Amino acid sequence: MLTVSNYHYIREDYSAPYPSIFGVTPTAFKKQLKLFKNEGDLITPSEFLANYEELVVSKDNFFFITFDDGLKEQFDFALPILDELGMQAIFFANSMNTEEGRVSTVHKIHLLRSVIPSHLLLDYLKEQKIAMLTQEELQKATTNYRFDDTASAELKYLLNFKISFDVQELLVQSIFEKHFLESEILESLYMSKSQLQYLANIDCLGSHTHTHYPLGLLREDKLIYELEHSKNYLEQLSGKAIQMIAYPYGTPEACTDLVAETAKKVGYLYGFTTKKGIIEKSQNKLLLNRFDCNDVVGGKNYKP
Ligand SMILES: [Zn+2]
Repeated sequence: MLTVSNYHYIREDYSAPYPSIFGVTPTAFKKQLKLFKNEGDLITPSEFLANYEELVVSKDNFFFITFDDGLKEQFDFALPILDELGMQAIFFANSMNTEEGRVSTVHKIHLLRSVIPSHLLLDYLKEQKIAMLTQEELQKATTNYRFDDTASAELKYLLNFKISFDVQELLVQSIFEKHFLESEILESLYMSKSQLQYLANIDCLGSHTHTHYPLGLLREDKLIYELEHSKNYLEQLSGKAIQMIAYPYGTPEACTDLVAETAKKVGYLYGFTTKKGIIEKSQNKLLLNRFDCNDVVGGKNYKP
């Protein structure tokens, strides 16, 4: 039985005027890894690639750790803990951050939301004549973002799924520039090239696409670019094969069959969604289930 547990932010302190960045602390991460070890075996990315077929059908419990977004704090805090326990995880990074020196819009939104309340950001979008969510979309939003209040869920859904990327990027950029210095955030938030190279060298680097868009909503040429370009870039940077990908957002809208087919076509062997569940034998290898760390043993929403 193979359980994948996914992480994003890992830091000591999550305090903010409007807390909008959530994740684990290093202590909680270590505690959860120890729980996994009690319940079964943690596997490395190389073991995942080499033994996937056996792991999936085995009656024993196997855990696989993944990190999305290529955040520097993952390198600084998670890696030493993994090292200490003699473990490895795979880190999925976006190529845009290092290649173009740009902060992903998704992270700009996280940062803005931690300093500006969601209802004011919604007001700003209304002022810009952006159409708000329908009743049906609002329902989807509150289901998708069940940990958020309604205004935050509405804002996230609007930004992630309703406003076109071009418009969204412009809107977000214009507010972001007023509150943050992009170069500073870039430096502090993301892994450096040498950190990415280090991870690739120990076979722990995967792709999270180029730009962090929901792939399922892209035109096919853009979809191919997102998948292929990040693979090529990370491979050229590191000299190692990049065989695994985690799709940004990982929701059904973001991970369509076309996304999986295209990922396979450009050379990925395994692709991860955020659909909860253990990995089933019959599953498409390019659309694998993956739990959020909160939903597995030791997580705050875990119900055995
Ligand atoms: Zn992500």
